[in-house]
Amino acid sequence: MLVNEIFLSLQGEGYHSGTPAVFVRFSGCNLHCPFCDTRHASGTEMTEEEIADAVKRLIPHASFPIPLLVFTGGEPALQLTPSLVASAKAAGFTVCVETNGTLPLPPNVDWVTLSPKGLWLGAEAEPVLRRADDLKVLFDGGHDPEAYAHIEATHRFLQPMDTGESARNAALMRQAADYCLAHPHWRLSLQIHKIIDIR
Ligand code: SF4
Repeated sequence: MLVNEIFLSLQGEGYHSGTPAVFVRFSGCNLHCPFCDTRHASGTEMTEEEIADAVKRLIPHASFPIPLLVFTGGEPALQLTPSLVASAKAAGFTVCVETNGTLPLPPNVDWVTLSPKGLWLGAEAEPVLRRADDLKVLFDGGHDPEAYAHIEATHRFLQPMDTGESARNAALMRQAADYCLAHPHWRLSLQIHKIIDIR
């Protein structure tokens, strides 16, 4: 498996925002979003055992286990296997996946965060997944988040797009907050790891 990085941090987005988590970032993605802010191109070839060992080394205290393991990318569905998910679950993690939803996932994943990109990339990027634990739709002030009303989700998050420009980002945050107030089945998701400047 080609892995970009494995690290311990706080989940910055969505339902588990603020929760300590180990992140396994796989290299590579099947989409090419113009706004992608994740450096996932490079990687190190690792076996499942090597990934499990690297995760284990990040746990600071055995008596205070880290609750979440998040497989992210890139697009984790390109490489994630049921056996790697099973070994993470056996180690006590709730196993989360952050996906663009265009590829099937191992069936034993505990938590799916689906962030669809078809609004920007067209039909080929529309999700094949029809259900998620959290649905995270980027808000750019121009596209209608209700385009994903057909996707069943326990939690629906609207996340202002990071444009790389602070004035525009602040305006989008306010617009997204207004949208959530007017459409209360959505909740606002901010990228708190960027706000507090952690990984
Ligand atoms: S789906 Fe996500 S990781 Fe892939 S290119 Fe788009 S934003 Fe980047």
